[in-house]
Amino acid sequence: MAMFRKKKEIPLGLWMKCPGCGKMAFTKAVEDNLNVCPDCGHHNKVTARTRVAQLLDEGTFEALGEDLVPRDVLRFVDEGSYASKIEKAAAKAAAGKAASEGALAGRGRLGGRALNVCVMDFAYMGGSMGVVVGERFARAAEDALERRVPFLTVATSGGARMHEGALSLMQMAKTSAVVARLRDERVPYLTLLADPCTGGVSASFAAQGDITLAEPGALIGFAGPRVIQSTIKTRLPEGFQRAEFLLEHGYIDRIVPRARLREELGALLDFLQRPPQPASTPVPASRPAAKPAAKGRKRASGA
Ligand SMILES: [Zn+2]
Repeated sequence: MAMFRKKKEIPLGLWMKCPGCGKMAFTKAVEDNLNVCPDCGHHNKVTARTRVAQLLDEGTFEALGEDLVPRDVLRFVDEGSYASKIEKAAAKAAAGKAASEGALAGRGRLGGRALNVCVMDFAYMGGSMGVVVGERFARAAEDALERRVPFLTVATSGGARMHEGALSLMQMAKTSAVVARLRDERVPYLTLLADPCTGGVSASFAAQGDITLAEPGALIGFAGPRVIQSTIKTRLPEGFQRAEFLLEHGYIDRIVPRARLREELGALLDFLQRPPQPASTPVPASRPAAKPAAKGRKRASGA
């Protein structure tokens, strides 16, 4: 029996296999690289906490609506009860492996600039949007409105949380309504779409940014490709629903690698909040514009 040597134990989580290139990499090395594969640049999913730590200035995040917890008002059951799923998710959150709900929302700073955020967490029930996500989003957005501070959402989600039925669908309207108020009040609203961003989230607040950014390779779409293919009975183009394809087709404004996010966001925030250009510098601005019109009138009268 000596020919069966005992396998060398590898501590769990020390190595990870890259979903992009399939190579094994030190988990620590990937984490130190903002959870991006050092070999192929694959952007791994990150929890909302990690995202906040990567994006915002250290120690500046103040959560809003952190006390809100999901409730199983419909007593929903599919493969298991929603109540038991809430319990499991809460245990995952307590272990630090997910946020306390599908999104963390609050105030923070980016390079010293005030910024409100709503950062979704795919590790919490697939980042699905239920009542709590909608309410946290709304609170952070309303706080942004009140203080006239830009609002950024990082959207990564499987869509509406079906366990909450129509209540989850109502969050699409609720979040869209507050985004409309931001627009009316001219408070900048930015979105960053991270892998994956689908369903009711992609069809509501994630698609309504003044500027829409995406991470490289992110899957972005409403329904999955198989569902679409079988519905419209057409073969879908290569790379369909990936950030790069959507950039080419004008759905998103820019793809930003994670390593450059802080810098790019900072530049965009400065641009969106630059002091208004003096509206009336009348002398040089109006004269050249008046000249051709005057000439035209002369010519017209002369003819
Ligand atoms: Zn890789």
